[in-house]
Amino acid sequence: MLQDCIIVGGGIAGLQAAIQLGRYSAYDVLVVDAGEGRSTLCRCYHNILGWPEGISGEELRTRGRQQAESTGVRFARDRIVTAARTATGTILLEGEAGRRYEAYTMLLATGVSDRIPEIPGLVPLLGSSVYICPDCDGYEIEGKLTVLMGAGDAGAGMALLLAERTNRLTYVNHESSRVSPELLEQIRLAGITYIERAITEIRPAAEGQIEQVVLSDGTVLPAERGFIAFGGNQVHSELAGQLGAALSDNGHVESDSRSKLTSVDNVWAAGDIALHAEQVTVAMGEGSIAAIWINKALRGQKEKLDQLKSNNDGIIRTT
Ligand SMILES: Cc1cc2nc3c(=O)[nH]c(=O)nc-3n(C[C@H](O)[C@H](O)[C@H](O)COP(=O)(O)OP(=O)(O)OC[C@H]3O[C@@H](n4cnc5c(N)ncnc54)[C@H](O)[C@@H]3O)c2cc1C
Repeated sequence: MLQDCIIVGGGIAGLQAAIQLGRYSAYDVLVVDAGEGRSTLCRCYHNILGWPEGISGEELRTRGRQQAESTGVRFARDRIVTAARTATGTILLEGEAGRRYEAYTMLLATGVSDRIPEIPGLVPLLGSSVYICPDCDGYEIEGKLTVLMGAGDAGAGMALLLAERTNRLTYVNHESSRVSPELLEQIRLAGITYIERAITEIRPAAEGQIEQVVLSDGTVLPAERGFIAFGGNQVHSELAGQLGAALSDNGHVESDSRSKLTSVDNVWAAGDIALHAEQVTVAMGEGSIAAIWINKALRGQKEKLDQLKSNNDGIIRTT
């Protein structure tokens, strides 16, 4: 079936777009989501309007999906692996098990994955007392005994930012990867304790609260807060690339600042795969903007879309 719009990625940006598009009550909208993503990892977002005590990513996703479904938006659990243009100009997507989807318009909201080494005890603390984003959670470490777990220059850069919020900071270079002499000197001048050693375990005091960081030589570092910065994050812009959309040097999808339309027809991008601060409220805003412009496009091209739907014989012809 030819969908008016397929949203690939049911995280924050995709869900907000789905809610906005669903509320036009005019379109077949399908969200295809692999069920992972940054919003599944964060135990508590602290910087969102209306949630002063915070809300978890899973809770936001559950509520968002229910809200979108109540407007008629449908969901499929799948990972899209290929995207191509068909002979009629529609977009053909193929999922992991070979399932095919066809759309007239598409929103890419596939996000970014953080490189997080397997350190026992780390993941359950993410967002509640171990953070990833200084813009989101620098506030949470103000004056607190903080251990930054990272690697190389990525960790060193983060350490210097965090030193503006606390003077009780240790940077553990978990992979002992190279830190430039300039950054090392700045770390020394900022009074940050620097350790090159693998982390073997993170111990909590209570659910969600970090207490100790254990190193490979048995050293135990007490901690009130943690941060991570291992570098090497992956931007999920592969589908955009397959469709020929312009990407920035660091792999993010470029889009029009007003409409979030990418450089290819009828394909929009929103959330962390686009180029901007990687935050929930930004992802929501972009999802909404993209949906508003997808509606404009669908209205403007209604005649063509109706014709494609009436000619649709169920066979998808690729170029
Ligand atoms: C530990 C942690 C803490 C954070 N804390 C904060 C915070 O306090 N405040 C804040 O504002 N932000 C925070 N962030 C960032 C925030 O989570 C992201 O900015 C937000 O999730 C971006 O939304 P998104 O929709 O772009 O991506 P995501 O939420 O990552 O969603 C992307 C979705 O796309 C799906 N997907 C990817 N590829 C495919 C594919 N090929 N086919 C189908 N589905 C696919 C994934 O499964 C996922 O569901 C944090 C992030 C992390 C990891």
